[in-house]
Amino acid sequence: MFDRQGSIGRRMWPKSITRESLDPWYDRVAEALPITRGGWDDVTYAGGVFAAACHHAGRTANPVAAAIDTDLCTNCNWMMSGCRFDAKRSLLLNYLPAAVDHGAQIRPLHEVQRIERSADGDFLVHYTVVDPVDYRVRVDAGAIEAKIVVVAAGAAATPVILQRSEQTLGAMPYAVGRYFSGNGERLNTAILDEDRVRDVLGLDRGDGLAYAANQIGRGPSAASWDRLDGSLPEFSRYSLEQLYFPPGFGTILAQAPGAEGPSWFGVEKKEILRRWQSWLTIFIMSEDDNEGVFGPPPSTGNADRISMQMLSRGNLRYEPSANTKHGWALADADIRDILERDGLSRVMPWTNEVIGAYTVHPLASCRMGDDPRTSALDETNELRDHPGIFVTDGSAVPGALTVNPAFTIAAIAERAVPNIVRAAQARGVDVRYLGWLPPAARVSREAPVTSSAGGVPVTVRSV
Ligand SMILES: Cc1cc2nc3c(=O)[nH]c(=O)nc-3n(C[C@H](O)[C@H](O)[C@H](O)COP(=O)(O)OP(=O)(O)OC[C@H]3O[C@@H](n4cnc5c(N)ncnc54)[C@H](O)[C@@H]3O)c2cc1C
Ligand code: SF4
Repeated sequence: MFDRQGSIGRRMWPKSITRESLDPWYDRVAEALPITRGGWDDVTYAGGVFAAACHHAGRTANPVAAAIDTDLCTNCNWMMSGCRFDAKRSLLLNYLPAAVDHGAQIRPLHEVQRIERSADGDFLVHYTVVDPVDYRVRVDAGAIEAKIVVVAAGAAATPVILQRSEQTLGAMPYAVGRYFSGNGERLNTAILDEDRVRDVLGLDRGDGLAYAANQIGRGPSAASWDRLDGSLPEFSRYSLEQLYFPPGFGTILAQAPGAEGPSWFGVEKKEILRRWQSWLTIFIMSEDDNEGVFGPPPSTGNADRISMQMLSRGNLRYEPSANTKHGWALADADIRDILERDGLSRVMPWTNEVIGAYTVHPLASCRMGDDPRTSALDETNELRDHPGIFVTDGSAVPGALTVNPAFTIAAIAERAVPNIVRAAQARGVDVRYLGWLPPAARVSREAPVTSSAGGVPVTVRSV
């Protein structure tokens, strides 16, 4: 992964970042959240049926590591909208309490609009305060003075803030808002034949049911990494992961297998919806071509809001390249080979007709690298030509990771912190790098602390 060239003909990652050099930072994050690798007893029915099908097809599968406390988890499968049981170890349970413990202020509903340089060379970060119910309504505005700025608004928002800041900060590096990667993502839905699951795979979960458990469980719990082999050519490597999507987006985009023409609606679609409990969703994370480009930023916000909170329209254009489509075709065929074998199921990819490409793992829109032409950040996460501004979110990752990205995003952020502390010290800020796990994060592993705060991870302490 770290040696990928993508379409630029040279290593995309800074040469100082290798798996070995990032390992200590992965360890730090794994301890802070914490992340644990479960055994097969922790895998859900959906993960288990995928693993059994992989085994039947001569492939391997593995339980995936996750930041979930399985003792607290009720397998309610509603983690996309947060976890009300504190089983999912979100930042609310570790980094944020630790940051507050160290004096950080969290300002919910404050939306950063742009950054400018003040007369004395520091920064002014301009924000608006949005209404808690309707984010389209602005109730207040202001600016915060800062010696350094760490932007971590996510890969869909960070380039927008920086683009909008051009008027006052000056031109941005070429790569701001370019090279966006959707992590090469694509989904397939298999409609399992319950009788074949019982007869071919020998599975039975009691009450005469072989599977019918799409709705039970949590997130991804099993994955096949057979194609994550560094010796394979680029754009042919991917992971296949069992994933759960609650009713909504995925239910709309799933297509009926074997139907003529578009089959995300119609009679056949209605029929597969009746068998919804027998669905198995398989997630492809592959190597795309960093083909996403952001257009001009909206006047405020990260995208034009269509509804009160969740729905908005951004200026990102993403036309999948032949390389990206090649990887998807290989992975689609692989999934069919595993899951249609001996009549286990019928498989169809989600439609691309409704919304084009889609992703839950946006990356690389303000990426790191050694080459100033194709990277916005240097290898310390500092924005080129704008000393004192650092970017530490998914936009800094140079390209598709072929696995779930949160662990790597967090490891790169941890790695950036000593550089940020040095930059702050150079500007006279009285801080030092502690280099150990914040006490509040350690406490959270034994007794989760619930907080309504929101914000970014901080491991810096004022002294
Ligand atoms: C449904 C779903 C399931 C996922 N499951 C997994 C998984 O199992 N494993 C995994 O590794 N990854 C998973 N991911 C991906 C993972 O959550 C993201 O890759 C990761 O959170 C990205 O981190 P980030 O720091 O780049 O951005 P974010 O986590 O998006 O953080 C950005 C923050 O900035 C705030 N913000 C945005 N704009 C502004 C602004 N203008 N002013 C102020 N604040 C702003 C946002 O509110 C947000 O809090 C999932 C994602 C989704 C959507
Ligand atoms: S399935 Fe997800 S949301 Fe439900 S309890 Fe478990 S971790 Fe929390």
